[in-house]
Amino acid sequence: MVLDDLGSSLRGTLDDLRGKSRISEEDIEDIVKEIQRSLLQADVDVGLVQDLSDGIKSRALDEEPPAGTTPRDWVLRIVYEELVDLVGESTEIPLENQTIMLAGLYGSGKTTTAAKMAWWFSKKGLRPAVIQTDTDRPGAYDQSKQMADNAEVEFYGDEDSNDPVEIAREGLAATEDADVRIVDTAGRDGLNEELIDQIERIGAEVQPDRNLLVIDAAMGQSAKDQAQEFEDAIGIDGVAITKLDGTAKGGGALAAVDQTDSTIAFLGTGETVKDIERFEPSGFISRLLG
Ligand code: GDP
Repeated sequence: MVLDDLGSSLRGTLDDLRGKSRISEEDIEDIVKEIQRSLLQADVDVGLVQDLSDGIKSRALDEEPPAGTTPRDWVLRIVYEELVDLVGESTEIPLENQTIMLAGLYGSGKTTTAAKMAWWFSKKGLRPAVIQTDTDRPGAYDQSKQMADNAEVEFYGDEDSNDPVEIAREGLAATEDADVRIVDTAGRDGLNEELIDQIERIGAEVQPDRNLLVIDAAMGQSAKDQAQEFEDAIGIDGVAITKLDGTAKGGGALAAVDQTDSTIAFLGTGETVKDIERFEPSGFISRLLG
């Protein structure tokens, strides 16, 4: 079943090793090249691809397969373990009382993700609330309220206020009975001091238990710088990758994950509140390689 997670051409290359009693350096090179091609196409950072390649090569050539394991199964195991190492484990999201703040650039999918996460928590039996603090984007309030209605979760926002910190403070008080408070914040087209200052102030007010960075799957390499800025400002505990129902495979987000020393929490796969999945390494690996 692990083999099914790998892309079809890689599967073919690995299958060619079936029956071989010894796997040569050349065989390993072929496999690594195949993986490199897929990952670079999926927007994975060159440095990360290189690290992965080195890891696979040195382990496949230096380590002895355990007794009873065929060379092919051994290589397959190494490839899989190194890929899991690359994408990371899923961010731990305890099913308990907590406040989660979302950060990210304008249009990354924060507002949508806030409602999706609230829906996800409600399906886990918790009582979530969305707090909308985006006072910059016209329509953010209505969109957020509508999506919270669709998700059938509590919502707090104030369309007449232009003070996000005050909205956050009042939102926390108004949603006291909720188990999980998801605080949506404003984005900008690019990172600037005003955005960073604002999110720092909201963070100081709400004291979130975890901060998630929302990244559009199509973001590519620039996700890295963005991630660093947010990491410096508020600390990033996990990443949500959105728009994976499009053509982008989301490999660019791995650079952001690496940069912030965090992990991936959620994947967004559509525009409705139900289009959310918990990140899980093997599914994401098959997406990257497929
Ligand atoms: P924000 O500015 O970060 O709050 O972004 P929004 O939540 O408003 O999302 C921007 C656009 O992306 C909207 O049109 C959303 O419907 C769309 N969107 C968000 N997440 C997804 C997703 O997972 N898949 C698709 N196809 N569209 C998404």
